[in-house]
Amino acid sequence: MKSTYNQLVSRIKLLETELERYKKGEQLQKENLNDDFVVLKKAHRSILREYNSIIKELAGKNTLIYEAEKKTRNIFQNIPIAFQTLDKEGKIVDINNYWLALLGYERNDVAGKPFINFIQPEYIHSFEEHFQLLKKKVEFSQVQLPLICSNDSVIHVLCYSYTIFNEEDSLYQIHFTLNNIENKNKSTESLTESECKLEPLLSNLPGMAYRCINKKGWPLEFVSEGCLDLTGYTKEELCINGIIEYGELIHPDDRDFIWSEVQKAYQGKKQFEFEYRITTRQGIQKWVWERGTFLDKKNSSNDNILEGFITDITQRKNTEYTLKESEEHYKAMFYHNKSVMLLIDPSDGKIIDANESAIKYYGYSLKQLITMNIDDINILSSEEIRKEMKKAVSEERNFFQFKHKLADGQLRDVQVYSGKIIMHSKEFLYSIIHDNTNERLNEKKLIEQNEEYQTMNETLQESLERIKKINEELEISKEKAEESDRLKSVFLANMSHEIRTPMNGIMGFASLLKRPELSGEKQKQYIRIIENSGKRMLNTLNDLIDISKIEAGQVTINNEHTNINVQLRNLFDFFFREANEKGLCLTLQKKLSTEDSILYTDKEKLYAVLTNLIKNSIKYTKKGGIDVGYNVVGQTIEFFVKDTGIGISKERQKAIFDRFVQADLSPSNQYEGVGLGLAISKAYVEMLGGKIWLESTEGQGSTFYFSVPYHHEEEHETDWDSINKSANRHSPEKKPIILIVEDDEIANFYLTEILKDRSDKLLFSNNGKDAVKICKENNNIDIVLMDIKMPVMDGYAATKEIKSFRPELPIVAQTAFAMTGDKEKALNFGFDGFITKPIKEVELLKLIKSFINGPMLTNGGHA
Ligand code: ADP
Repeated sequence: MKSTYNQLVSRIKLLETELERYKKGEQLQKENLNDDFVVLKKAHRSILREYNSIIKELAGKNTLIYEAEKKTRNIFQNIPIAFQTLDKEGKIVDINNYWLALLGYERNDVAGKPFINFIQPEYIHSFEEHFQLLKKKVEFSQVQLPLICSNDSVIHVLCYSYTIFNEEDSLYQIHFTLNNIENKNKSTESLTESECKLEPLLSNLPGMAYRCINKKGWPLEFVSEGCLDLTGYTKEELCINGIIEYGELIHPDDRDFIWSEVQKAYQGKKQFEFEYRITTRQGIQKWVWERGTFLDKKNSSNDNILEGFITDITQRKNTEYTLKESEEHYKAMFYHNKSVMLLIDPSDGKIIDANESAIKYYGYSLKQLITMNIDDINILSSEEIRKEMKKAVSEERNFFQFKHKLADGQLRDVQVYSGKIIMHSKEFLYSIIHDNTNERLNEKKLIEQNEEYQTMNETLQESLERIKKINEELEISKEKAEESDRLKSVFLANMSHEIRTPMNGIMGFASLLKRPELSGEKQKQYIRIIENSGKRMLNTLNDLIDISKIEAGQVTINNEHTNINVQLRNLFDFFFREANEKGLCLTLQKKLSTEDSILYTDKEKLYAVLTNLIKNSIKYTKKGGIDVGYNVVGQTIEFFVKDTGIGISKERQKAIFDRFVQADLSPSNQYEGVGLGLAISKAYVEMLGGKIWLESTEGQGSTFYFSVPYHHEEEHETDWDSINKSANRHSPEKKPIILIVEDDEIANFYLTEILKDRSDKLLFSNNGKDAVKICKENNNIDIVLMDIKMPVMDGYAATKEIKSFRPELPIVAQTAFAMTGDKEKALNFGFDGFITKPIKEVELLKLIKSFINGPMLTNGGHA
């Protein structure tokens, strides 16, 4: 600003100097001045233009401007050129003193009047045409007019006009310079002189003023100092007879068009104006702007003369070019971009522009697209779209995932980048669209695949776990198999030993018995050995049969009321001698009274378990004692058999309840047995509803425990009494009369031997039919021992008949079939008792005693 102002001040100073000079020389050269000021007025116009713009910038800001204006006004009033300023209506706003002097008016006659009042009426219309042109922004123009003076004479003037537009771009004022052309011819001679006077003024203009001849090559008659800056040549070098013609500086491509434009202007009597390129002395190419006009005079050679002004516009051109280039660059970036792009008006969603990729992608023409709304493409509701656009405009969010519909109806997944841009002070959305349908599909597939893999992984994991478990089980099975292999070998060796040893005894001593010289004592000894060996073998066989029945699930439970005190007493009596013989002390503990010691259980199984445990205690104890008894624990009776024997190691304690397992696996095991007793006992105890366990310390002894449910019932009294009663029917003196039904002679003989001293009378029959007959004939028979398998009539049929006439007569079945269910079948059929062959004397007597409480046991031998 300051530099512009300084420039202005220096120019004004120059003007003042010039003015002084003109004032001084007024008397001498006044008549020549009017024409000569053509150039000066242009300078003035240029200064005015600049002045106006500066005034606009600085208006009201400082007093320096006011000073500048004052000075300019002074120049304006006193310069010997007629100036006038009209408003947009064509009314006179201002005139200078020279104007008033030229036409002979007073200021008051003129100010505010329409300018046309001073024009000869026939020429008013040409002024109006000119005025209209000015309104259309033709900044600089000229018209020749005859003006009416105050004394009614007419002066011809050439009006040069310069328009001023305000900020709203409408016409504000027009400045006119009026040249009196009445004396124009007189002035030509003094041209050079006036040029000299104007030169300093023109040299301050940015560019060069010229006058040249209308010829190709444009020979210059005059050129201002500015030519050096513009072309690199001095005015002498450029003017006629210089070293170069101006036409040569013009770019060859522009020369023709300049020529024809200038000629056209000549034809139309108009100004010309164009832009073209020149090459300076330094070889630099410059863009220049030129405006000029033909003079109404010709030179001495009768050539048309033109005058004008040329200025450097390279910078503006370059800027324009850069702008154009960058515009084109950006246009290309938008239109030819491979990405799909849309320009959207966020206020209503209208598509403003679309690039080639968008046209191709959506399948609509550009014409269609720019009539469409983004709602026609985005499948979201209008409301949702507005919301998202708001986010993009406020830059809250720029990335979006949408579904867009194409012209062919296809729905595509798109990723949209949307950003705000401002064009012509308005906001737009610039959207770049990327189709990611396939990526989304792949993503979806990937997720699905992942899930599949996950499931597969889980299944695999499960399979692995299962395999691991199977492996573990296999390992256990392998260990078990190895163990069972070892056990099998031990078992086979053991079994073989357990069968061969007694067999050896039987066979050996049976053959020794045949010796004739054998003493009675020896015979008895041999027979005892044979009996013991037989017993041992029988024990093994019994255990084998029992375990087979258990494993086949053929063992059933037959509960009945049984007095455990009595049972324990019997066992004590039975084992007492054996324990004694081994030097062991056998003791018995009974916690309940006889009345309370009745259990409802399977008597035989309970008996078998206790027998086995006591037998083992005696077997595995060398010294000390064995304590047998029970405790009542809640709803159970806990039996125990405690010894001070060899004990069992911790590791073997669990195994000894398995079948064929013994604690001692060494071949040197000196104890009899095949390892079945505890397996059978365990199975029986569990069948009775209890459990079996032990406490043992190796070398100190073992205590075996087992529990059975204890239900104390009142009715047992009745049962027990009735048994007693039935037993007491017979007087103590009377021995029973027994019928033996048996077809086998040896069995017959055996029974006779046992019973002959224990009964009053023994009756015999070798088939069922006879037995029925005997029973009918002897109603004093007390009990019948009935074989099952017999000729003529079997035991079942005979029993049925006997029961038909003697229902109260006790009939005991005796059979060699020790198979499961035989006993149950017999009892269910109607037998009162059951005994298995080989018949043990004690058992038989006990059984008979349970039916007939007579003196037979006490009277006869021993149990
Ligand atoms: P076995 O016919 O071999 O006696 P069992 O099944 O009755 O068979 O017993 C299994 C094993 O338990 C025996 O071989 C023995 O090693 C051990 N055993 C049983 N009872 C006792 C006990 N009271 N003291 C020490 N070891 C015992």
